[in-house]
Amino acid sequence: MNSSARLLDAPVIIITIALITLAARLPSFGAENPSTGRSATMRLDFFHTGNSSQELFSVDRILIEPLPWPGNPRRLIDLTNRGTYLFEIRDLSSGRVLYSRGFASIYGEWVTTAEAKRVNRTFHESIRFPAPTIPVKVVIKSRDRINAFREIWSTTIDPGDKFIDHSPPAMAGHVSEIQNNGDSAFKVDLLFLGEGYAASEQEKCEQDIRRLSKGLFSYSPFNERRSDFNVWSICAPSPDSGVSHPSRGLHRNTLFGSTFDVFGEERYALSFDNRAIRALASLAAYDALGIVMNSDEYGNGGIFGLYATVSIDYPTSIPTFVHEFGHHFADLGDEYYFNANVAYSPADTSVEPWEPNITALADRSHVKWQALIEPGTPIPTPWPKDCYETTSRKYQNLIEKMRAEGRPAGEIRQATSERGKAIEQCFSQGNYASRVGAFAGAMYETKGYYRPQQQCIMLEGDQFCAVCKKAIEEMIDLYSRP
Ligand SMILES: [Zn+2]
Repeated sequence: MNSSARLLDAPVIIITIALITLAARLPSFGAENPSTGRSATMRLDFFHTGNSSQELFSVDRILIEPLPWPGNPRRLIDLTNRGTYLFEIRDLSSGRVLYSRGFASIYGEWVTTAEAKRVNRTFHESIRFPAPTIPVKVVIKSRDRINAFREIWSTTIDPGDKFIDHSPPAMAGHVSEIQNNGDSAFKVDLLFLGEGYAASEQEKCEQDIRRLSKGLFSYSPFNERRSDFNVWSICAPSPDSGVSHPSRGLHRNTLFGSTFDVFGEERYALSFDNRAIRALASLAAYDALGIVMNSDEYGNGGIFGLYATVSIDYPTSIPTFVHEFGHHFADLGDEYYFNANVAYSPADTSVEPWEPNITALADRSHVKWQALIEPGTPIPTPWPKDCYETTSRKYQNLIEKMRAEGRPAGEIRQATSERGKAIEQCFSQGNYASRVGAFAGAMYETKGYYRPQQQCIMLEGDQFCAVCKKAIEEMIDLYSRP
């Protein structure tokens, strides 16, 4: 144990004892009487293994995190129908659901790639919930062919089990308060973790995170709802500076095992060491997590309920992070479909997606955002799709050629910027540019899926569309409204 970790021991033990005492007053974990106290935070770490035809779960460990449950004690049941997976905490004797949350995972994305047809892989995952005081059954559900949740695994937890680990986290880092608007129980607690910052770069880590936080809260609806958020950051030294980038021959020893080139896509950057992420994150309250990668290459990722990542020194890192945060925080689907260098297999567009901003049902009486559609707006809604696709194709070919020729990064950025202007020119010809409707082309499919507006940051606009804003506000309410 290093010296900084030792410093944490005493307060952590005191906090843990105080929380166990508080939690013990509640019948389950306060489901019926949220005003009487705060639960501790329980975490179930597990391994998620499989391939495209088989899926297995196994328990790694159960532990109590050092800080109280930061979630909303009055919104214990998740009715938003988001996520590839859903977990439930049920009273073991009555079967009553005490807590539930939708989530997604790296496994859930990987299993849709071609690789999952050939090999098995294992990913480490966690679910966090208010620590129960009675024996509970943990149930994990996944989506079936028609996107309904079906149970795929369960395990039981006895809160008196001697193997539940109450020890302080194995990692130490500097926790900073970026904005504190009050009790975590009624705020969205957003935590940023620095990744790939060497010991000499800790000040840069703090500054980068503050810059990113300021950027996120310049976008609607985060700016209007800023007082519903607490924002925290943790910086801790990585042995190496930067993050791994296998396609460039770069391998770095960093805190969370972050890497570009995930699933063979260079710009897809994720962090794989879930145990380390959870150990460091548990030093702060969090409902949402951002991982800030110390790199100037283009890279990012966002997984619902897990985290959003961004390579911070790339010129468009702020809007890129805002897009990824839309995936992570609200399970928004990608509205882009063209130039979509994604690794996933083609979707079955006859099944309605659960993502709040994508529909396969382009008729007025079935569109899930029908309340936002003005009378007189045609459904499906015409837009300059041909212009957009022709322009996108032209620049895609050009930029791929430039990359193949090894042209300087500045020239490629210039071409990307020209592409943006040409695309804007197409969009400006749309007759329904400001309307909510059902616009063909979304979620990597040119046909079959529809998005709510012509432009959105989930496509390539500079702000969220009206439907995405509403979907984000629903999640803010889930964590902040009494
Ligand atoms: Zn949108």
